[in-house]
Amino acid sequence: MSGSESTASNFIEEIIESDLQRKGTEWKVHTRFPPEPNGYLHIGHAKSICLNFGLAEKYDGITNLRFDDTNPATEDTVYVESIKEDIRWLGFDWEDREYYASDYFDQLYHFALYLIKKGKAYVDDSTVDEIAGMKGTPTRPGQESPFRARSVEENTQLFSEMKEGKYPDGSKVLRAKIDMSSPNMHFRDPVLYRIKRATHHRTGDDWCIYPMYDFAHGQSDSIEEITYSLCTLEFENHRPLYDWFIEQLEIFPSRQIEFARLNVAYMITSKRKLLRLVEEGYVSGWDDPRMPTIAGLRRRGYTPAALRNFADRVGIAKRDNLIEISLLEYFIREDLNKIASRVMVVHDPVKLIIENYEEGKFEDLEADNNPEDPSAGSRMLPFGREIYIDRKDWMEDPPRKYFRLGPDRTVRLKHAYIIHCHNHTKDADGNVTEIRCTYYPNSKSGSDVSGIKAKGTLHWVSVPHAAKGEIREYDILFTDPEPTTHEDRDFIEFLNPSSLQVIEHAAFEPSLLEVTSGRHYQFFRTGYFVTDPDSRPGYPIFNKVVGLRDSWGKKMKNKK
Ligand code: ATP
Ligand code: MG
Repeated sequence: MSGSESTASNFIEEIIESDLQRKGTEWKVHTRFPPEPNGYLHIGHAKSICLNFGLAEKYDGITNLRFDDTNPATEDTVYVESIKEDIRWLGFDWEDREYYASDYFDQLYHFALYLIKKGKAYVDDSTVDEIAGMKGTPTRPGQESPFRARSVEENTQLFSEMKEGKYPDGSKVLRAKIDMSSPNMHFRDPVLYRIKRATHHRTGDDWCIYPMYDFAHGQSDSIEEITYSLCTLEFENHRPLYDWFIEQLEIFPSRQIEFARLNVAYMITSKRKLLRLVEEGYVSGWDDPRMPTIAGLRRRGYTPAALRNFADRVGIAKRDNLIEISLLEYFIREDLNKIASRVMVVHDPVKLIIENYEEGKFEDLEADNNPEDPSAGSRMLPFGREIYIDRKDWMEDPPRKYFRLGPDRTVRLKHAYIIHCHNHTKDADGNVTEIRCTYYPNSKSGSDVSGIKAKGTLHWVSVPHAAKGEIREYDILFTDPEPTTHEDRDFIEFLNPSSLQVIEHAAFEPSLLEVTSGRHYQFFRTGYFVTDPDSRPGYPIFNKVVGLRDSWGKKMKNKK
């Protein structure tokens, strides 16, 4: 940063800039992203990743990746790998600074011994329930444990015996000795260590005692000399305890700053609840395109740029709030409009015959791939006597302002000719089965000399060239904007039964047979799509990312 001009755009940046001014160039912005490897990352984590790495980028600092792996029962290397993949995909790099809280187990154990030595920790033989029962309430002081007065020698011996495996699981804990009547419940002799025989994904069976999150997280920050330890608001009232540990242990004073969690309407951001959706089979996996996980959003067709721009725009707040999905959709549309190739796909095909076009003749028409980006080039589209158009683009008795096709109406076929409809056939139910038209040979796109006006432009696909494939369209996964906030109801009750719709009868332009996974398209007039990894040779599968226009306002009105 040069000079004293502030570039801060939020309260955390203000703190950093004032520190940089006071402490000089020696002061380093050193942040960390500290996921617990017990699930896949979700959109809330994306926000935290962008914040931590983004601050380091802005202020010439560094960011560590630290796995907070102190709970062997729920953690797994599968999650470690997925987390790394997701952060890289978002475009951030922790270089060689990949750390694990479990790397510090030895050091944390010695921190605990040090507290015992200072008379600030003791071994308690009470059960979990007894400890909870004696905790008191915010307005009523707790009771001191009968084991609180143990001597330093006895505590030291018992704690090392706990480590050596002399005692069964749950029979003893190590607690800090602070203040059982403190108004801050976290000061009422919090548990620091428990006995738990569980195989850890990194340390195996080396340990049978594990530190509690509160005794591991802050100390890990200090060990790594993190200057700004950013976390969500629920840790605000843990901060005095972390500061107490720093003071007692005389370790590096990392500064914790809290910010509001990102909550997006109709999405849930709790790994535990997302795990339930996966385990109980409500979705196809962590990367189901309906999931608010980074892996799910990626498969759905979201781009790193869209998520980063979204995170920036949401900014950071000190109070919880709820962000609309439409904001997220705005950023993906904005990005895909620049990069997606335009193609023609007819969702619900109905056959249209151009009677004055020679039978058996075909021509290749040039079609640009992206009008927003001339460097995207063009492709050739086969055109002939029989084409498909979308059933939605036909109406037998249309209203006045209808610019699509109907009896005695004129439209342009995208990249092709103007046609005029003069006949059609219907089935017994009144559905149109075939539309008959004539075309104007001198109205070809790019060299139109017909002088004929057509208000509407339709997309189409040549019948003999049409490729088969699948379209997967998604709706919100939950019908309630905050499905996890209803105390007496399980969030599963709010699952949207029609969140996935599979369309197997669409007609695709033939260029789509050669798809590569993860490529983005704009299906002309319909929306943005991405190829799904389930695609097979000769059978492309597309996920709908988002429609072309914001349909939320309308959708919500209709629901009321
Ligand atoms: P979950 O409830 O999904 O398990 P968590 O906070 O327990 O979330 P962690 O793996 O501990 O998950 O989170 C890693 C980091 O991401 C933490 O610093 C946490 O504060 C941050 N984080 C988690 N959820 C959100 C969110 N919704 N918005 C912003 N940051 C978040
Ligand atoms: Mg957590």
